[in-house]
Amino acid sequence: MEVQIRETCKSCGGSGFVSNPIYEELLELDRKTKKEKGRYLTNYEVDEWWSKRGYNPLEPPPEEYDCDDCEGAGQRTRWITLEEFKKLLK
Ligand SMILES: [Zn+2]
Repeated sequence: MEVQIRETCKSCGGSGFVSNPIYEELLELDRKTKKEKGRYLTNYEVDEWWSKRGYNPLEPPPEEYDCDDCEGAGQRTRWITLEEFKKLLK
């Protein structure tokens, strides 16, 4: 016998979306530029950066996208055995 439970999605922590890791790279480069040159990236440099990665700078990828695992719901349902269910109650 199994029961269905609904739980917070572990992949997105319940928010329903995940941030695009490519923006971490961009932020990192921005920080590096600030450190080395005393200024942040210019719009031109950011555009160039996107181009180098094969993106159209006018249409950069979204900063966040719907979580694949819960399809943006933030919660997932799954079937578990009663044994597993008992363990969760402890
Ligand atoms: Zn999720």
